[in-house]
Amino acid sequence: MVRLASRMDTLPPYLFAALDERRRAVEARGVEVISLGIGDPDLPAPPVVIETVQREAARAANHRYPRYDGLPAFRAAVAAYYGRRFGVSLDRDREVLTVIGSKEGLAHLLWAYVEAGDVVLAPDPSYPVYDAHTGLAGGEVYPLPLTEERGFLPDLKAIPEDVLRRAKLLFINYPNNPTGAVADRAFLQEAVELCRRHDILLVSDAAYIEMTLEGERAPSVLEIPGAKDVAIEFYSLSKPFNMTGFRLGAAVGNAQAIAALGRIKNNSDSGQWNAVQYAGAAALEQDPEAFFAGMNQVYRARRDKLCLGLRELGWDVPMPKATFYVWAKAPGGDDQAFASRLLEAGVVVVPGSGYGKYGKGYVRVCLTVSEEDIERVLTRLRDLTPSPFAN
Ligand SMILES: *Cc1c(COP(=O)(O)O)cnc(C)c1O
Repeated sequence: MVRLASRMDTLPPYLFAALDERRRAVEARGVEVISLGIGDPDLPAPPVVIETVQREAARAANHRYPRYDGLPAFRAAVAAYYGRRFGVSLDRDREVLTVIGSKEGLAHLLWAYVEAGDVVLAPDPSYPVYDAHTGLAGGEVYPLPLTEERGFLPDLKAIPEDVLRRAKLLFINYPNNPTGAVADRAFLQEAVELCRRHDILLVSDAAYIEMTLEGERAPSVLEIPGAKDVAIEFYSLSKPFNMTGFRLGAAVGNAQAIAALGRIKNNSDSGQWNAVQYAGAAALEQDPEAFFAGMNQVYRARRDKLCLGLRELGWDVPMPKATFYVWAKAPGGDDQAFASRLLEAGVVVVPGSGYGKYGKGYVRVCLTVSEEDIERVLTRLRDLTPSPFAN
């Protein structure tokens, strides 16, 4: 067989692909599995999205290649939305770029900036894509521990000076996957100042920015004065609009970073289908606040049911203020063993060590199933003997 490039050695199998494989093995034995694993909303996209895709699919003009930098109507809708929602003004042409989901944008951005010898500052635990593409591009991740004591915010002051000198990018992701933590403006301000001082590109992964469960809205990093000099933010329509399958997001902010990402993309993909971009524009233009409020209410009810139910079983889980993830210490301390035990009982949760070394000992439980399924999960966990929750 042809030998793979040695850079492939840096790439672990994608966390969720590995989990899927184990799940199928359990299902093959006749166990019906309920997944609280991957964060993929179970409810439909807004009606306006479905109607727009249907209408635009019929137009021959949309059967051709899209524009490389994205549909102007979508980029204009993103810019207008950032103005309304965050008070941030964006130039539709220089400061907004359509991406095929933020995963694609985040991965390609690393290729524009990282080479051998470069350091990337990334939270640990975190979304696996930051690490994976830093490694492929030959760079080195310097992990920023997210610990409970610090509210899962990295200690930026603890980064050594020589690391800061070699650092090209700093990733932040609030509201946070997997911990559910939120960041306030003071933290965002500190991150912007650090990046300005050390000439680092600040990359804000805002996949959950609309998903706050206690009423208070999450800020955009671009609200911080001067942020556009050093920051790029990835806004995703996937989670808030139940559009993960559509693959649509936008990179916004620093014009040089947007241009660099665009150059990589022009040479790799040919953009997202116009029909999907028109649908994304319609979603942002048609009172998205009402849709978000409805979704967040659904997740809040599920969170309360799950967390209160688990506490009754003797598992003292915290209640997240944002995202649809519960991040909890695994009973017994071994996250892999605990997740395996639950999988055998037909319940998928993600072992925290899959998100990095500091995720060890935790599991992530996702709220993307109905309240009825949450009841069924609670019943299955109650029936485990001996109970993993007794202590
Ligand atoms: C889901 C997720 C993404 C990817 O979202 P897409 O826009 O669907 O690619 C990016 N970052 C984090 C932290 C996520 O959880």
